[in-house]
Amino acid sequence: MIGCDCATCRSTDPRDARLRPSIAVESDATSILVDAGPDLRMQALRHDLRRVDAILFTHGHAYHILGLDDVRRFNAMMTRDMPCYGDPLTLQDIRRTFHYVFDPATPKGGGIPALDLIEIDGPVRVGSVEVQPIPIWHGERPILGYRLGACAYLTDCNRIDEAAWPLLGGLDVLVLDALRIRTHPTHFSLDEAVATAGRIGAGRTFFTHMCHDLPHAATNARLPPGMALAYDGLILDIA
Ligand SMILES: [Zn+2]
Ligand SMILES: [Zn+2]
Ligand SMILES: [Zn+2]
Repeated sequence: MIGCDCATCRSTDPRDARLRPSIAVESDATSILVDAGPDLRMQALRHDLRRVDAILFTHGHAYHILGLDDVRRFNAMMTRDMPCYGDPLTLQDIRRTFHYVFDPATPKGGGIPALDLIEIDGPVRVGSVEVQPIPIWHGERPILGYRLGACAYLTDCNRIDEAAWPLLGGLDVLVLDALRIRTHPTHFSLDEAVATAGRIGAGRTFFTHMCHDLPHAATNARLPPGMALAYDGLILDIA
């Protein structure tokens, strides 16, 4: 956190230095990004991300879409428009936030990402990966998590929609929102996240979207078996 001297913010443990939440999922020749936050450029450089076949958007909050301008580089490397999946409200947020991208009066050229916005309302196939949208609640706002094979990514939520439960069986890996210790109107607290993860019953659960209330090592030490905080750069093989 900017201007904070707490133990997490001053920690020398690299796992306490957190960029904004996002994941890349790779399978054979397919590479899918979930969300494109303000740190997309730095994350792509750190992890030498060269291929993105599609971006799945969970919702339109700034932390999750403000990296869209950097899609220009992927447009150039892959010589194609970027398919961007989201629910109608999210696509509307993207159109409003990046209005110049969709304004026919904007001069064409290197300054504009080429985005192909696609509404998602059921399973879609991206390359070799079956993508299942998962309805979740971010406070009053319905948003989407995604299941990709045996992995589900559910960020920014404080409630799992009833319709989601049948879609969450047999997971190898669950990534779930856990913001902080105290409850919050739009995010799971750590206790709520642990209880929800227990009910979902994935083989392994990793929590994401933590704030500085949750130092990495100390928090991990008191989590149940099979559950841990995720950290920047974590790489998982999915069954
Ligand atoms: Zn702090
Ligand atoms: Zn959000
Ligand atoms: Zn968020």
